[in-house]
Amino acid sequence: PEDLVSKTLKRIEEDKVEFLQMQFTDIIGNVKSLTVPKNRFENALTEGVVFDGSSVAGYAQIEESDMRAIPNLESYTLLPDEFGKNKIARFVCSVYSPDGTRFPGDPRYVLERILDQVHKEGNEFFVGPEFEFFLFKRDEHGNPTTEPSDYGGYFDNTPLDSASDIRQQIMKELYDLGYQPEAAHHEVAYGQQEVDLRYAPALKMADRIVMLKSIIKNIAERNGLYASFMPKPINGVNGSGMHIHQSIMSADEKTNRFYDKNAKYGLSDYAMHYLGGILKYINEASAVLASTVNSYKRLIPGYEAPVYISWANKNRSALVRIPAGEGVRKRMELRCPDPAGNPYLQFAVVLGMGLEGIKNRIEPPEPVEKDIFHMTPEERQAEGIMSMPESLGEALHHLRSSKLMRNVLGDHVYENFITVKQREWDQFRSYVGEWEIKRYLPTL
Ligand code: GLN
Ligand code: MG
Ligand code: MG
Ligand code: MG
Repeated sequence: PEDLVSKTLKRIEEDKVEFLQMQFTDIIGNVKSLTVPKNRFENALTEGVVFDGSSVAGYAQIEESDMRAIPNLESYTLLPDEFGKNKIARFVCSVYSPDGTRFPGDPRYVLERILDQVHKEGNEFFVGPEFEFFLFKRDEHGNPTTEPSDYGGYFDNTPLDSASDIRQQIMKELYDLGYQPEAAHHEVAYGQQEVDLRYAPALKMADRIVMLKSIIKNIAERNGLYASFMPKPINGVNGSGMHIHQSIMSADEKTNRFYDKNAKYGLSDYAMHYLGGILKYINEASAVLASTVNSYKRLIPGYEAPVYISWANKNRSALVRIPAGEGVRKRMELRCPDPAGNPYLQFAVVLGMGLEGIKNRIEPPEPVEKDIFHMTPEERQAEGIMSMPESLGEALHHLRSSKLMRNVLGDHVYENFITVKQREWDQFRSYVGEWEIKRYLPTL
């Protein structure tokens, strides 16, 4: 629509913008962006920008090299100052194939497609992430180390916790962007932080997480530190997760489809079936939710990360937890995803599992309120509690035989994701590392 273009152009002028950043993400979740100078502003808004897709991870198809990124004008965001000396505005773009159709390999399109199913019924899929990460020192060359920025612990706020100032800088920018940060705090491990955003529609939230990641990286850098979203950067201490709180509500946020105050646990049938779907398909979605080799070093007993496929109302060792909260606050918290993933695909597969559960009226098992980590294998077996994949290789094995995931992701993303991630896994499993040399060389 022309008036939206001229309105946006006017805003760009008022904000004294020097450059536009046209963003989209590759299959892994890395942000790709093209910078547009003033003389091309109007053209970029109306026609988008053309780029070579053949070298973007997971886009690769020779005939698709002339791709087009068309900005979603309502995503206009004036970037905070530390993004550059000049005023820069960012647009989240949709990617189009040379023939003018939506490119099926665009992760944002994957999420839009599955969300359509929810929107058709007049509902919205809401997500609220708890975003964990580490702040590390840099060495004298400026390279990242794994030395923590501070020696604070869970909820600490003392001189020990020099990171509290950085958390405030992050929150302030999130607030200025209208992202509704809820809270931030020091996490369990030295140098580990958490930022929580208020729940929002999933597409908006995925865009925000992409932004949040670069804000965190930039602010860390401005403070001489390095921010890492690696799920388990340090041996023997807690890793970083991105727990996802989720609910399906009417679009006006008045009626929570997950809530039924007369039902057991306050969860409607709709919510129970959604939960049934998540627990049934979690192995198939695991490679998307915990998408790196390193992710599976986080998902082990003893570090508040889930290992077994179960749900609970209180017990935090469960994969899915139902936090306290009634009415619109009634929600499910999925704890296996980590901040290293692609948020568009992560939200898409979570919703895909839940909707499949609703469609087939899948009943979840009983909740397990006991601490599963302290159960013997026999006790777990007696309760029918299964484990999640132990490695990226195992997760890919489940993904490869998943009709549901092929459906949710679409052929293009499904196949390319497996190709990219299988390569990552093969590199790792064929690499002879330090642990093996130490363990075997002295005796074998
Ligand atoms: N860091 C833990 C994880 O890996 C979560 C800790 C917490 O939030 N209580 O998921
Ligand atoms: Mg938290
Ligand atoms: Mg936490
Ligand atoms: Mg949590």
